[in-house]
Amino acid sequence: MTTEAMTRSNRQLAFVTDLNKCIGCQTCTVACKRLWSKNPGQDYMYWRNVETAPGLGYPKNWPEKGGGYRNDELQKGKRPGLADYGVPFEFDYEDRLFKGVKGRVRPRPSARWAPNWEDDQGAGDFPNNYYFYLPRMCNHCEKPACLEACPSDAIYKRVQDGLVVINLDKCDGKKDCIEACPYAKPYFNGVSQQANKCFGCFPRVEKGVAPACVAQCVGRAMHVGYLDDPDSSVYKLVRTWKVALPLYAEFGTRPNVYYVPPFLGPMMEDGMGKTARDAKIPLALLEKMFGSEVKNVLAVLGKERDRKRKNKPSEIMDVLIGARSADMMMSPLT
Ligand code: SF4
Ligand code: SF4
Ligand code: SF4
Repeated sequence: MTTEAMTRSNRQLAFVTDLNKCIGCQTCTVACKRLWSKNPGQDYMYWRNVETAPGLGYPKNWPEKGGGYRNDELQKGKRPGLADYGVPFEFDYEDRLFKGVKGRVRPRPSARWAPNWEDDQGAGDFPNNYYFYLPRMCNHCEKPACLEACPSDAIYKRVQDGLVVINLDKCDGKKDCIEACPYAKPYFNGVSQQANKCFGCFPRVEKGVAPACVAQCVGRAMHVGYLDDPDSSVYKLVRTWKVALPLYAEFGTRPNVYYVPPFLGPMMEDGMGKTARDAKIPLALLEKMFGSEVKNVLAVLGKERDRKRKNKPSEIMDVLIGARSADMMMSPLT
């Protein structure tokens, strides 16, 4: 089958995360992990992960790994090693609690890096240090580099919802998808010798149930819906108001996971309790991640927030607040 045929879909399911509402609780991470990646060889995999930005992320330094497209040409990137994800470890509770070993609880084997190793660290100096949480998953891209790179035609985009899925009957573990995805979202399973990744919870989606990471989100930060459904909050945020942006769009894969940038972050302060008009999170960082459009988005969101503060109506704020929470989840397939 040609790449064009394998990427054709009639509808596209898309995800929006409001970075102002994500509290970094990792409930989505655990929901995904418990449901889908508990098999042998999957210990180190977090198809869904929430990292601290700015930071090195998971796997370490993933935005530097390469892959994606340059001038429409597929790029071969690097494949992260297990140490970049973090070698899975246990804490030695048993030794401390039952075998009389003294001292502080330690990881076993000793660990030097793990997912969220640098959680909440961020950047900047007190009192103007800052960070925000960045939930990540497969972007179910419009132009999936993983799919084009796969020599075995094992990756395809589902016609009914645009989710990008690995066909394990065909995957022979060549790892090209892992090198090609600039978001480092396919993982190699050393036991099954195949690639694994988020498949958009399609068994749930087929029953009209929202993906687990969305349904379990404690912060009500996630929206999921079809990009052709004008009633969905995803459609409104992405298409109508254009206040949700893809991450690192320059990678060229045209992601279908979008982010409402952090506009509610605290303002700079002088240490004596006086605040300035500049936000602590630098615009340059947000532009690097979400592109130059982010400046306009922050302005729109700021205005809408002020309307709400003055008791004036704001449909954008109502959607972001989740005033009609049913609209945050996709409508069932018809
Ligand atoms: S994020 Fe990566 S794995 Fe997911 S569809 Fe895009 S290129 Fe493929
Ligand atoms: S959509 Fe499902 S498989 Fe994908 S990250 Fe969310 S919970 Fe995991
Ligand atoms: S469950 Fe929601 S609030 Fe918690 S980390 Fe995930 S996206 Fe953020």
